[in-house]
Amino acid sequence: MLKENYEIVEKKIADACQKAGRQREEVTLIAVSKTKPVEMLQEIYDLGQREFGENKVQELTAKYEVLPQDIHWHMIGHLQTNKVKYIVDKACLIHSVDSLKLAQTISKEAVKKNVTVPILIEVNVAEEESKFGITTEETIALAEQIAALPNLTIKGLMTIAPFVEDPEENRPVFRKLRQLSVDIDNKRIDNITMGVLSMGMTNDYEVAIEEGATLVRVGTGIFGERDYSKL
Ligand SMILES: *Cc1c(COP(=O)(O)O)cnc(C)c1O
Repeated sequence: MLKENYEIVEKKIADACQKAGRQREEVTLIAVSKTKPVEMLQEIYDLGQREFGENKVQELTAKYEVLPQDIHWHMIGHLQTNKVKYIVDKACLIHSVDSLKLAQTISKEAVKKNVTVPILIEVNVAEEESKFGITTEETIALAEQIAALPNLTIKGLMTIAPFVEDPEENRPVFRKLRQLSVDIDNKRIDNITMGVLSMGMTNDYEVAIEEGATLVRVGTGIFGERDYSKL
């Protein structure tokens, strides 16, 4: 079943790229494996998948220990400052930076471990109260402050779009994030590049690809529904 799901997602990504006139290589699929057992991750790994996304520090580090070393782990969930030290040298990209305080902690831990940490700024484009992330208006000022910190580098933006029935409803959200990344790029700020746009989940990744996503985060579409009752 996993293989079938994976192939369907891969096909839909390829089709969306073609529809948008983009190369398939411009879009990277992140398999969001939160709550799923390592056996399922291994199965997807064996099909060639190397990018995995987790939203909890403890789960990411536990899976990191037991799964193959060539996996790239993406931290996509809200990050508490006291947990930064556990993942700063394990995550290939932290998608969820939404405050100067968090960025300062990442920078400090990165200096200690002598690594440079790639990050994305999480923008709450739709301004949903339930979501983390900063507003579109706040983003440029925060990015400038963060870019001045050592051992950290801003690679782009991330957003979690609202849950909607019709993915078309999220098109303006994706378009807004893309425009914001263009605006920031045009400012040519030191230590900021805007090559990465992390947007699109199971429900809406095809629309996100049409609007310029370079990373799509797909969980349910690959692994099936999550069962939180067993955790
Ligand atoms: C869980 C999660 C996803 C994947 O969601 P699906 O709808 O299962 O594809 C993507 N991004 C973030 C930040 C998540 O927490």
